[in-house]
Parts: sequence; C-alpha cells; structure tokens
Amino acid sequence: SADFSKLAPLCKPRVSFEFFPPKTPAAAEALENTASRLAAYGPGFMSVTYGAGGSTRDRSIRTAERLGQRTGVPVAGHLTCVGASRQDVDDVARAYWNAGVRHIVALRGDAPDMEAGFVPHPEGYRSAAELVRGLRDVAPFEIAVAAYPEVHPEALSAQADLDNLRRKLDAGATRAITQFFFTPEAFLRFRDRAVAAGITAEIVPGILPIGNVAQARKFAEMCGAHIPDWLLRQVTDLEDQPEVCSQVTTALAAMMCRELQRHGVESFHLYTLNRAEPGIALCRLLGLDTVG
Ligand code: FAD
Repeated sequence: SADFSKLAPLCKPRVSFEFFPPKTPAAAEALENTASRLAAYGPGFMSVTYGAGGSTRDRSIRTAERLGQRTGVPVAGHLTCVGASRQDVDDVARAYWNAGVRHIVALRGDAPDMEAGFVPHPEGYRSAAELVRGLRDVAPFEIAVAAYPEVHPEALSAQADLDNLRRKLDAGATRAITQFFFTPEAFLRFRDRAVAAGITAEIVPGILPIGNVAQARKFAEMCGAHIPDWLLRQVTDLEDQPEVCSQVTTALAAMMCRELQRHGVESFHLYTLNRAEPGIALCRLLGLDTVG
C-alpha cells in the first residue's frame, strides 16, 4: 500500500517574509493585515524593500516601523545605494535605526536605465560590499546581502560573483538571501560552490510562488533566473484564473522547499508580493502552525 507518511512535514523551518512598501493608505492597511496574519506563523523577521534611487525612502522607513510595532516581529529594512551619496544612504540607515529597525538587507540596486548599466554616484557607495562596510560605522545593524544561485547578470563569471558574495560577508554581513529560483538544483549547486569557496554564513533561499505568469517571466528574465518549461506549461493558460495559478505555484514552491529541507535547508525567505494566502499555505505545507 502507498506510504502516505512521506507527506508528513519533515521539521519546522524558520521563515521570513518580504513586502514592498504600499502606495496608498488603503494598501498600507491591507499590508498590516497581511503582515499580522503571517506574523502568527512566527517568522524570524519580516523585510521591507527599498526602491532603487530612494523612490520609496520615506514609505520604506514608515512601513518598517509600522509593521514592527503592529506585529512585534523584528523588521529588516532593505537599503540600496544606487543614485545616492554615502551621506544620503547613511542618513536613511540612521532613520531606520531611529524607527527601531536593527537589521538591514544591504543592496546595490539597479540603474534606472538597465541598458546603460550601473554607474556609481560620484560620492556614493560603488557596490553592496562598500555599503555593508559603511553601515558598520552608522550603527551595529545585523546585515544581510543578496546572493544569486544562477549568477547575477552583470557578473564577469560565476566565480567572480561568488568572490563578490564573499567580499560582502567579509565586510560584515552575516546572512545571504538568494534571488528567486525555480528548481532545487539551482540552489543546491550554488550552495555546494559557496561551501567549496569557504563561505560558512547562512544562505537562505528566496522563494517566489508565482502569482502572475507574465510578470514572473519578465522578472526572471531580468535577473537571470530560469523557469523550467514544465513549470510554465502547468500555469501559462491560467491567466484568467489567478487563484488557481497561485494554488498550483504555491504547491510547487512547497514541493521545492521540502526537497531543499531534505538537503538540510532550514530557513526560507518568502517573496510575498504583499499577499498573505500563498505564504500561509506554504507555512502549513511545511509543517508550521500558528504560534502562541
Ligand atoms: P552587488 O553585490 O554590488 O553586485 C552587483 C554586481 O556587480 C554583481 O554582478 C557582482 O558580481 C558585481 N561586482 C560587485 N563588486 C565587484 C567587484 N569589485 N569586481 C567585479 N564585480 C563586482 N533591489 C532594489 O532596488 N530594492 C530592493 O529592496 C531589493 N531587494 C533585494 C532583495 C534580495 C534578497 C535580492 C536577491 C535582490 C534585491 N534587489 C533589490 C535587487 C538588487 O538590487 C539587484 O539584483 C542589483 O542588480 C544587485 O544588487 P547587489 O546588492 O547584489 O549588488
């Protein structure tokens, strides 16, 4: 007979949830509701993204402060350095600190014109590694950085990208969170290469349950993540049934996470796109229950 015990959760993972800063008061209220529902699953932290060039500066700081107060969960503020002087970036970090934020996801950010490529601000940090070093003089933040299982599109080579990750960790970051990817192998191969290169910091897989296929294809193309054809075939004709699409992609994401758990992965960072349901379903499928 079939052995359904294989379907039982393996072990309780640690999770974190990423949000983007809402644009309107109604969206802000909806996000607080979403964050509260997800907070019930005991995340290690929640993070709020930051528009490259500072476009979301005040909203990111306010959202981080508000979510922290509302949920009691530690909040990480993302911070980018493209298009800003060191002074301006340091001021944002100080504002995060004054808003109770003790954890920064330190990023370079993308140039406004991707074709033209990244040009550092004349008085700015030239890379995420420089930002990490600079942040240490602002306040004793916990610092996370980005990692790319399928290699950052601007990297000279996979090895150069790994060297860059090591520089960011050597500069003071203690955790790497990956760009999203859609096969367990993409992450596991990257982790093997990182370990072989002597990287010991935790590398947390970034998980994106696809909500909108066209948008996910565009994001994936921009950041060099490969979406396998078999996965696309399962959802491409579901454009007019977003709920079904989300159920399918959340189940696929859970299967991938469970495969990663089988290979010793204990933490997952979820790109929520400000939606509660996929995150809740994923927590449940991975064996997490509401706490307290
Ligand atoms: P870096 O680590 O500085 O690397 C950028 C590129 O330069 C890489 O190709 C690297 O290999 C290369 N490089 C760096 N230094 C050197 C060197 N000395 N020699 C040779 N090559 C070098 N973007 C936002 O705008 N807002 C966000 O909130 C945001 N959040 C993110 C969260 C996560 C978890 C991830 C994975 C990405 C996020 N991004 C965000 C996207 C990120 O800003 C882009 O991917 C950006 O293109 C690179 O940022 P980075 O911090 O990885 O840059």
